[in-house]
Amino acid sequence: MTTAAACPRCLGPLRPPDLWSNQYRCDDHGEVNPYRAAASSREQALHALATSATVPVWLPEPMPVHWYVSGVGWAGDDRTGPRATALAIAGPSPLGGPAEVVLVAESPGIGLAARLAGIAGPDPAALPGAAEAKVEAAGHPTAMWPLAVPPDRAAFVGEARGVWLWLVLWPADAALLLMEHLELRDLRDTPELGDRVFFGAASAHLTGGPAALR
Ligand SMILES: [Zn+2]
Repeated sequence: MTTAAACPRCLGPLRPPDLWSNQYRCDDHGEVNPYRAAASSREQALHALATSATVPVWLPEPMPVHWYVSGVGWAGDDRTGPRATALAIAGPSPLGGPAEVVLVAESPGIGLAARLAGIAGPDPAALPGAAEAKVEAAGHPTAMWPLAVPPDRAAFVGEARGVWLWLVLWPADAALLLMEHLELRDLRDTPELGDRVFFGAASAHLTGGPAALR
């Protein structure tokens, strides 16, 4: 079960391909890669993504203690395969209260992560100044640039395996603590999740629930 195909840039409804166009279309954003999130069977959806995605499927390894997977989403149609992947994880913030992080890998021009970050997309503007953080992605130290985003969140972007790597984090003040020593592996390399990966309450940020940014 997945959510209905939606625009990756606004979560609006799409017009499916028809006689005149072989692309999904959003009234506001034109031809887009249809976005879907797993509504159930998220573990199977993640496995399917790991074998079909044309971009990385990032998973923290190890997962932060007491954190769980809260959502799985992707953009792309049957012809192209997923050209953007989003994995949400949630758990206790180092500063108290709940926190959530969405890891996105996406080809340029899709706009899934820009929606989550709350910025005009589909891609980040030129990256100013110096990188502020570093994560390890598939064994490579990866510089991450902070973006100016709404105050309830923080967002960082870098490049890994030839496409964008985005991290969008709620709340903002947990961001730097959460990003310390963050190591990511690409599930396409080894799809086994291991016995420390759990699934929990669904992310409103990925499914467009009431807390999601429209
Ligand atoms: Zn749209």
